[in-house]
Amino acid sequence: MGFSRVVSMVSIVTSLAAFVLASATVVPAQDDFSGVEIKVTRVAGNIYMLEGAGGNIGVSAGPDGILIVDDQFAPLADKIRTALKGIGNHKLRFILNTHFHGDHTGGNAVFGPEATIVAQSNVRRRLESGGMIQGEKYDPVSKEALPVITFDESLSVHMNGEEIKLLHVPSGHTDGDSIIFFSGANVVHMGDQFFNGGFPFVDLRSGGTVDGYVRNIGTVLEKLKPGVKIIPGHGPLATLEDLRTYHQMLVATTGLVQKKIKDGKTLEQSKAEGLPAEFERYGKGYINTDGWIETIYKSHENSRAH
Ligand SMILES: [Zn+2]
Repeated sequence: MGFSRVVSMVSIVTSLAAFVLASATVVPAQDDFSGVEIKVTRVAGNIYMLEGAGGNIGVSAGPDGILIVDDQFAPLADKIRTALKGIGNHKLRFILNTHFHGDHTGGNAVFGPEATIVAQSNVRRRLESGGMIQGEKYDPVSKEALPVITFDESLSVHMNGEEIKLLHVPSGHTDGDSIIFFSGANVVHMGDQFFNGGFPFVDLRSGGTVDGYVRNIGTVLEKLKPGVKIIPGHGPLATLEDLRTYHQMLVATTGLVQKKIKDGKTLEQSKAEGLPAEFERYGKGYINTDGWIETIYKSHENSRAH
């Protein structure tokens, strides 16, 4: 993937980066990642989280090599590589993509020639075809940036003493999202099925739906064990309680807005009414309260059109 292609996908995610980094770090300009530092956090056992710009990266590092979940942007690849070296001198073997968005797959172009990329079938399809995200066109990626192993429902990688399971959750953030379970370490990477601290971006043009998004988190909650550490797609590392609270917020806010739709209120009326004050804090990031209300309306219209 050439740099210009990266940049074309970066525009929607600079605001994501702003959401994540606002309080902590300088937000990089669209084509400048020079100020970005990769922060490494040990999550549990041999699992780590890397934060830079774009989606959080999960890492399994051990005697069988390194597996990473998502790889941010191509211009950050060297910094990511240095961070991985700091964890241990192991060979990068697998890259799992939680979904196709460029702030999670941009590094594929650099790492693809040396490691095996794994993702749900729709991730490969969307990376291969190019398309639109949030009204911005993105180009098809280069061949080496494409997943070489794809699956429909689930797949497991057995390495570093545990089963690392990818479970596809349908029609949520997109139509190709996977949740990654590090079963031995009791860690889960949610990808963008979890925007810790903010209303979620639901990519309605790429097969995402609001109802699916909420349902998928419910499905994951049923599978999680006490003490689990949760890596969100964006935002800080989370606990089971954090994810429960997030799910309750989604159930409550979608319920409120869907009731307004049922009562025949227009989008403008609903925006004017807003949401209860307790949910205000979720609207300070990439998706503000108006944006979330609008997403719920649009998703509802889409479901009626089908
Ligand atoms: Zn995303």
